[in-house]
Amino acid sequence: MATSFVDKARITVKAGNGGNGCVSFHREKYIAAGGPDGGDGGNGGNIILQVDDNLSTLMDFRYKRKYTAENGVDGAGQRKTGKDGQSLTIRVPRGTLVRDAETNEIIKDMSGNEPYILCKGGKGGWGNTHFATPTRQAPRFAKSGLPGESHDVVLELKLLADVGLVGFPNVGKSTLLSVVSKARPKIANYHFTTLFPNLGVVYVEEGVSFVMADIPGIIEGAADGAGLGHDFLRHIDRCRLLVHVVDASGSEGRDPVADFDAINAELSQYSPELATRPQIVVANKTDILTDPALLENLRQHVEALGYPLFTISAAAHQGVKELVFAIANRLKELPPVTVYEPEYVKRPPQIDTSSPVEITVEDGVYLVEGPWLQRLISNVNFGDYESRMWFDKMLREAGVFRQLEELGIHDGDLVSMYNLEFEYQH
Ligand code: GDP
Ligand code: MG
Repeated sequence: MATSFVDKARITVKAGNGGNGCVSFHREKYIAAGGPDGGDGGNGGNIILQVDDNLSTLMDFRYKRKYTAENGVDGAGQRKTGKDGQSLTIRVPRGTLVRDAETNEIIKDMSGNEPYILCKGGKGGWGNTHFATPTRQAPRFAKSGLPGESHDVVLELKLLADVGLVGFPNVGKSTLLSVVSKARPKIANYHFTTLFPNLGVVYVEEGVSFVMADIPGIIEGAADGAGLGHDFLRHIDRCRLLVHVVDASGSEGRDPVADFDAINAELSQYSPELATRPQIVVANKTDILTDPALLENLRQHVEALGYPLFTISAAAHQGVKELVFAIANRLKELPPVTVYEPEYVKRPPQIDTSSPVEITVEDGVYLVEGPWLQRLISNVNFGDYESRMWFDKMLREAGVFRQLEELGIHDGDLVSMYNLEFEYQH
């Protein structure tokens, strides 16, 4: 199979786990057991997304689907903190939408240059040095690190361009892009030649430029998924202006008016909103015009619908400069390229709390541990009231407080859960 353009991919990402805290006591020759000196675990590495303009497809994600950042290293004696796990930066082409794989909600539109933390690494656990108090000089416990966040996401590329070229195959869209920019799309007298969207920067004059996208030709029925083109329409979703190229020459026996209407029908079928996007119509191949009436009919038809018409010959570079200036002027009046707002809201995860937690009492401290508790804690934002209430409710429903009371806990006794330590209040 020929390599095709990859503009959608599903991947799994996982941030690093925090390293465990260490239980250790200072030892020196001739000195009896010293104080606690167990270091903290290092934090797990984050999963970070970053736009890279050298990338133009999501091809790499077809071959590698799992991305894992480094875990934090466990703490050690002599107060040695474990090394933090290295973050993993995933590079994506500009315009990549990151969606939650389950709900399809947008998590982030990677259009800007700011790196984005998709998954946070788990916090390292505290070593026993942290738990020493005047009354508890030799704490024999430390904390496990917390797990890093993980997420199944879908990456979807929606190019970031000011102008989208639309029109039937073979009308000269790629030729036009190659004439006005440094982009070198494939040009051939053959239908469906453009298999990859191409972006070109068009320099108009000092300080004025715009980005133009050439997408694979739209064919009739494409919006129904009948052929190539349907998927590619998403790449012009955010364009501010469409440049609709029509072959006005009649050289292939086509009717320019019918072609123009057919493309617009495709657009409105794909998205009624896209069909109302501002358009500039370009009658191309006027150098080989067979019948001037074809051009006149097109002009009347287009102008009656309120669109401006420009006649050019992309191949002969005729009328191209005027067209570029008209595009630039029109863009000045139009709102900027759409950047999508995030829709995704992190929901409390489904956590099965049916298995009892493990509680040990050390030096009067109630140490609570368990796999689900670890997951629960790593999902609580303790700076947020609602999140804390949810945590409290989960502990209560799971019977943790009852378990503690059965062990004889009193108000004011210390409870320690991973990176949390609090006084028990009935
Ligand atoms: P696309 O499929 O719309 O991208 O069309 P291309 O840019 O690949 O062009 C299709 C064919 O039309 C190629 O053979 C071009 O050389 C030719 N072509 C493009 N523009 C013009 C033009 O202004 N005049 C003439 N005579 N041929 C052109
Ligand atoms: Mg082309």
